[in-house]
Amino acid sequence: MSSSVKPFIVVGNWKMYKTSEEAVNFVENLIPYAETASSQVYLAVPFTCMDPVAVMCKGTKIIPGAQNMNDRDDGPFTGEISGKMLQSVGAQFVILGHSERRQIFQESNEFINRKIKKAIELNIRPILCIGETASERDKTQTTQVLTSQIKHGLNALKGDQIAELILAYEPIWAIGAKQAASPEVVQKIHFFCRNYIADQYGITVSEKISILYGGSVTQENAKLLMEQNDVDGFLVGSASLNVESFGKIINNSKGSPSKN
Ligand code: PEP
Repeated sequence: MSSSVKPFIVVGNWKMYKTSEEAVNFVENLIPYAETASSQVYLAVPFTCMDPVAVMCKGTKIIPGAQNMNDRDDGPFTGEISGKMLQSVGAQFVILGHSERRQIFQESNEFINRKIKKAIELNIRPILCIGETASERDKTQTTQVLTSQIKHGLNALKGDQIAELILAYEPIWAIGAKQAASPEVVQKIHFFCRNYIADQYGITVSEKISILYGGSVTQENAKLLMEQNDVDGFLVGSASLNVESFGKIINNSKGSPSKN
């Protein structure tokens, strides 16, 4: 099942790194790389720099977004940020269900599903992260874990809504690790996910949905990973913190526009 007609999407996930000043400086330097990028460039920034980054990204090829949101519009939820608030400062997409949110902040599939519905309602494109732990992988539970995360995460969504969202396969054992999952493993799992989506929601949805890989993507391993048929893009953590390494990944590892 080919997925080659879709644009290749590369999402930088800054996690809890960069002050507003550092973010502005980074985006200034990323713009020239983004101009010639063969990938669509998404940048998931901390809440505190969403506003200045979104302003800077206007008229550029960088799409600004957030790393999380609450499923309510407002209310007595100390410390939370709503999708409505993100929308008002220019967020165009949001990462939901990242393994760090699931593991450290105990986010359930049900909560993630509510957030996805709210993001869609607000026209903020959701990126649903899924992935198994090393121990689940070793117990050959990977496909079971992934299908449960997809099934519950997408509960009660319509096919055309699912087709528009982004799925990110992020094996937890490969996040922030020395090595990414092998291209063969990534292709096998992406193919499995696409087939599962075809079974559940139809072939058209499975062909339209973008399935990204995340977990220690670098400028060195990006080329082999992106050649896999069912890899429609990357979710990049550590390597997105450095403008040169991120710039090379968005330019398909062929080097930066300014350096060629
Ligand atoms: C992530 O946290 O989403 C991620 C993929 O991180 P890293 O690239 O550092 O493994």
